[in-house]
Amino acid sequence: MSGAEGFVGIDLGGTKIRGILADGEGRILASRLEPTGAGRGSEAVFETLASIAASLVEEGRAAGRLPRSVGVGAPGPLDAERGIILVTENLPFVDFPLGPSLEARLGLPVKLDNDGCAAAMGEYLYGAGRGADPLVYVTASTGIGGGAVIGGRPLRGRGSNALEVGHMTLLPDGPACKCGNRGCAEALASGTAIAARAEEAVLAARSGGRPTSLSSCPRLGAEEVFREAGRGDAVAELIASEALAYLGICVANLATIFDPEIIVIGGGLCRSGERLFEAVRLAVRSRCSKAVSGSLRILPAGLGGDSGALGAAALGHFSPSGAKNDIAEAAH
Ligand SMILES: [Zn+2]
Repeated sequence: MSGAEGFVGIDLGGTKIRGILADGEGRILASRLEPTGAGRGSEAVFETLASIAASLVEEGRAAGRLPRSVGVGAPGPLDAERGIILVTENLPFVDFPLGPSLEARLGLPVKLDNDGCAAAMGEYLYGAGRGADPLVYVTASTGIGGGAVIGGRPLRGRGSNALEVGHMTLLPDGPACKCGNRGCAEALASGTAIAARAEEAVLAARSGGRPTSLSSCPRLGAEEVFREAGRGDAVAELIASEALAYLGICVANLATIFDPEIIVIGGGLCRSGERLFEAVRLAVRSRCSKAVSGSLRILPAGLGGDSGALGAAALGHFSPSGAKNDIAEAAH
């Protein structure tokens, strides 16, 4: 990235769409944040995303930083080569040609990439894991996702679907996951899973089960569960500690596979603070070999909620539609 160019990146999430215009050093010049509104259907979500991208391209133009490409990080599975979202659990897209549709709208090359892959690249280029090799990124939010950067390049797999860590089986015959499997990390440790456990607990309390302060929460999400656990509610505490134990197993498995220098954890669940990192570090220490865990650093995302959008902007620039990416060279 160089000169007075601008780079547009979009992070398409299950609850929010974040868009940024960045300069060549990853500094954010403008940003947009809109609710995804997944319940409104695929066309409406696409319209929101396209209008965010168009307004950032326009803002870049007005500021003399003409964006040359747009990168989009989206949950998979994807056909990244053709810019198609095949199917997603938390969004209404099925075989949706997001890349080609957005290219037609903006008149610019668009690169669709796995959101975990984009966030890993963002943290590798500009965030907590700058230059770390290998770097593994895990996001714990509405869903659970991940990515890895090895030798300066994102590990995409054949169809850009590598490190769909949310669908790693952690508990045979565990709770059903939206993907059709059972006992996935996402069904056990995501914000959605924690909210589902909280609702079950409130229903159980209503029919004579163990009382819980969660019953008086107007909204039931991970934030409320961690808050009530912190206030001493035993039911909330059990839900929180079980979810974090499974997240820890998920991260420990990744450490065993990749022997990474750094694991970066981002996503909304990190708002539960040091508690999440303590649980994950404990799992890694107790489950991985010392050779792997000894010098491994496990850090919160340095870019907060912007890892995905910044990484998508970089991937869009270095690997526009179909071109082979050359990030390793550009990053050094
Ligand atoms: Zn699954």
